[in-house]
Amino acid sequence: MEQGAIVNFVYIVSSVLFILGIKMLGKAETARKGNFISALGMLLAVVVTLFDKNILDSADAVSWGLLFGGLAFGSLVGYVVAKKVKMTSMPEMVALLNGFGGLASLLVGWADYYYNGVFKAQGIAGAVEKTVSGDVPMFTKIATILAILIGGITFTGSVYAWGKLSGKISGKAKVFVGQKMVNASIAVAMVVASVAFAVVGDANTAHYWLIASVVLSFVLGFAAVMPIGGGDMPVVISLLNSLSGLAASAAGFVIENNVLIVAGCLVGASGVILTVIMCKSMNRTLFNVLFSGFGSAGGKAQGKVEGEMKPMSTDDAYYVLEAAQSVVFIPGYGMAVAQAQHAVKELAGILEDNGAEVAFAIHPVAGRMPGHMNVLLAEADVPYEQLKEMEEANRILEMADVAIVIGANDVVNPAAAEDQSSPIYGMPIIEAFKAKTVLALKRGKGTGFSGLENALFFRQNTRMIYGDAKATVNDLVAKFKES
Ligand code: NDP
Repeated sequence: MEQGAIVNFVYIVSSVLFILGIKMLGKAETARKGNFISALGMLLAVVVTLFDKNILDSADAVSWGLLFGGLAFGSLVGYVVAKKVKMTSMPEMVALLNGFGGLASLLVGWADYYYNGVFKAQGIAGAVEKTVSGDVPMFTKIATILAILIGGITFTGSVYAWGKLSGKISGKAKVFVGQKMVNASIAVAMVVASVAFAVVGDANTAHYWLIASVVLSFVLGFAAVMPIGGGDMPVVISLLNSLSGLAASAAGFVIENNVLIVAGCLVGASGVILTVIMCKSMNRTLFNVLFSGFGSAGGKAQGKVEGEMKPMSTDDAYYVLEAAQSVVFIPGYGMAVAQAQHAVKELAGILEDNGAEVAFAIHPVAGRMPGHMNVLLAEADVPYEQLKEMEEANRILEMADVAIVIGANDVVNPAAAEDQSSPIYGMPIIEAFKAKTVLALKRGKGTGFSGLENALFFRQNTRMIYGDAKATVNDLVAKFKES
């Protein structure tokens, strides 16, 4: 078998491993293995590419150093970052990884043009033959400019999103008058520069247009993310993730590498699917997420919340729970912050032993990423049968004696169903308010991710138990054990 056929065969094997890996990532039990299988696919692809382009044969000492030095440095940084990252900080880490993915595609596209266009036109050493930029086929030029534009937008957009999500800069949407016009003008200028790059014959002139496109794509990425904020940021990150895949795919066409094309398409498609799932769970359209300026001063204001929050001690909460026949736990971001899942599982077991029926109501966007609650509860060995999706959970809640809200806020905010002036109006929620008694566990009077006040906490049937969720649940567990 000739070398090209072997390489493509290995690429197919890698692609199959990617697809299997992604499939396995869909379930908590197989996710770890899925991640490993996908990584193995990538390792195979990288190794075989080194032979395919005869990189190893022709590499000099400096190139070897760069190749393996880069590999070692990247692996080390990846290992340390993955070890250190907290579960609740995953979205911002994903944002950074997307950003660098986009930048890598941009650099691949740029370097390829530099070599095959500019270098060759100038007859610089290393170029195989003297050519002019017109010799770079139009298809390659289009793929190059797409890798550069999408990669550039992804890079600055993701770095800005990382800053917002990690709290390095304000996470609020920043809107100003005429913003859409400004953004549209940047986009038009970018397209003009790109077309000029593609049609100009002289390689050096084309290269100036390419540099202009790079700069404008950087500006557009930044400008596009500026008017997005609050609870919409994770959706944007998912979209940028998809874009980083498309940029990689375009880079694959530039350097004619099949596995890069396939991997890029897989990332692009899965990112789009995730984006759609998130938008649906929040009952928003992607257009609305990108252009409504949610959470900005110019966004909708919520209606007034009346009444007062009524605190309850864990002593009293114990009596309420002791008498309950059916209890529904509603976990949210605060449970993840407190790492209370194991304590919650213990309390659930005690309540069951006490004769209560126990269920967990899972909102698809509770926490900071889809499936966040499922992962945490699976880690604590909560049986799958007890996890109820929103629709079923809402049916159960109508009959429940107690709903225990553990660090959830936006996903139980009744304003989403009742207050048309609320920015989250229309978002499906877990209807905790339907339970006879609601026990809300949170540290204080902090708002949810969207920055909105929550009318649930002011309702007649709600009692607030202030404190860190894990400490509170442990306290309740201790009270049951003492009795
Ligand atoms: P929220 O972010 O709305 O609220 C979390 C609550 O937890 C806060 O009110 C906070 O109140 C409390 N809290 C924080 N730390 C602790 C602690 N240690 N112990 C007890 N309570 C604590 O969480 P939800 O899960 O309800 O909602 C998720 C939000 O994220 C939604 O707005 C959703 O749209 C958004 N989002 C999620 C996505 C996803 O994929 N999961 C994607 C896109 C958006 P206090 O400070 O008083 O303690």
